[in-house]
Amino acid sequence: MTPLAEKTVFKKIIDREIPANIVYEDDLCLAFHDIDPKAPVHVLLIPKKEIQNLSDADPEDQSLLGHMLLKIPEIAEQLGLDDGFRVITNNGAGGGQDVYHLHFHLMGGRKLNWPPG
Ligand code: AMP
Repeated sequence: MTPLAEKTVFKKIIDREIPANIVYEDDLCLAFHDIDPKAPVHVLLIPKKEIQNLSDADPEDQSLLGHMLLKIPEIAEQLGLDDGFRVITNNGAGGGQDVYHLHFHLMGGRKLNWPPG
């Protein structure tokens, strides 16, 4: 997909142009608290590579995506989500995506209802 003309807010966080409350970082990804949490724990995990959403991911991103998914339970444990957690990615306008840099919402700390709204 064509690169976005302007940096997303998440790219600005990666580049340390705006602050974030970072809970995990490695060479490939970054996790930080959501600025408008929808649960007692609400963290966003993003790749450092600019991928707009899952529909924009390529086969070459397979190991990156696997790496990120396997990090989620580690981050959840670090954040004390012993009772369970939820992982969501909003994909495209119809999926409720606001920021066009792939991110996984990691939420927990309360009983999460199903189905979500
Ligand atoms: P989505 O609707 O799936 O694109 O989710 C975007 C999320 O990014 C929302 O939950 C926002 O609260 C969150 N968000 C937007 N700006 C920031 C920021 N500067 N720092 C942390 N989270 C943010």
